[in-house]
Amino acid sequence: MAHAMRIHKVGGPDVMQYEQVEVAAPGAGQVKLKQHAIGVNYIDVYLRTGLYPQPAHPFIPGMEGAGEVIALGAGVTDLKVGDRVAYAGPPGGYATERLMPADRVVKIPDGIDYKTAAAMMLQGMTVRYLIRKTYKVDKNTTLLWHAAAGGVGLIACQWLKSIGATVIATAGGPEKCKMALDAGATHCIDYKKENFVERVKAITGGKLCDVVYDSIGKDTFPASLDCLKPLGLFVTFGNASGPIEAVNPTILSAKGSIYMTRPSLGNYISTRADLVETANDLFDVVKKGTVKINVNHTYALKDAAQAHKDLESRKTTGSIVLTP
Ligand code: NDP
Repeated sequence: MAHAMRIHKVGGPDVMQYEQVEVAAPGAGQVKLKQHAIGVNYIDVYLRTGLYPQPAHPFIPGMEGAGEVIALGAGVTDLKVGDRVAYAGPPGGYATERLMPADRVVKIPDGIDYKTAAAMMLQGMTVRYLIRKTYKVDKNTTLLWHAAAGGVGLIACQWLKSIGATVIATAGGPEKCKMALDAGATHCIDYKKENFVERVKAITGGKLCDVVYDSIGKDTFPASLDCLKPLGLFVTFGNASGPIEAVNPTILSAKGSIYMTRPSLGNYISTRADLVETANDLFDVVKKGTVKINVNHTYALKDAAQAHKDLESRKTTGSIVLTP
């Protein structure tokens, strides 16, 4: 019998209950997976607390995982039982077994284990679209990346270093800053102690940044805008400290005719072709060793509440994985 962490009502980490679940046979276009590793992401917290719209209750959180195909639905021809696959969405990941639309999984290349695959799909594909699509970073780009010692952050530092960009990172505390620097950040600001706007001004000699990547939200807004050059791009892609409240667009002209976007991975991998291209680019940098996925925390699936507590209290670095 399969098991899953289920949510019956929104709330704190303990609303997730470890329960027996029945997983149906796969329908047309679906595959059934025996999961070997499950990624934990900040979006799981937003769904649990109700910050993001809820699926029908009860629901199984978790956007990311890796496992083997154990059954095929009608019409699935490009996968076979035993294939190693990974995915980033739709929700339902915190489970020992699950159904997936076959066109939302990708085969895991040889040399990448289940834990690494589960940890990298959502965070790694996010970094890829942010630095290659939302803004095309190149060696002349100067950028600010908040929370650089987190799951998304450590992948970003490594990938951006390989491009040659000037990466001004922020992180909470000297140990996290060291991690960001070791991963490839050019500078790191301990934003718990230092005023990051003043430090960005000093580091850039007043020239400021072409692009700011901000996943903190409430606590770093609007200060992050003061780190941008005129016509720069503000990428607000997360709300770890809470959401940014209503923004009056005149702030964008006041800060130098800057641009602002609020992107989401789902829109960047909505077609099969985009998903495959994005995943392949990620697999490529991981296989080459350009990007190492730091799975710094592993919990049993039934201990997912503890994983959430640690993530929300800023105790974690790098990526977090649950094992069924
Ligand atoms: P992280 O591992 O980066 O964890 C969040 C980090 O945010 C913490 O470790 C902490 O780092 C920092 N932080 C700052 N203030 C707070 C606060 N008040 N409470 C909690 N954490 C805080 O998480 P992920 O790698 O999973 O995700 C990073 C961000 O990227 C999230 O905001 C997530 O929503 C976003 N995201 C967005 C996607 C998109 O497509 N839009 C897709 C994937 C992720 P420190 O102690 O160094 O400050």
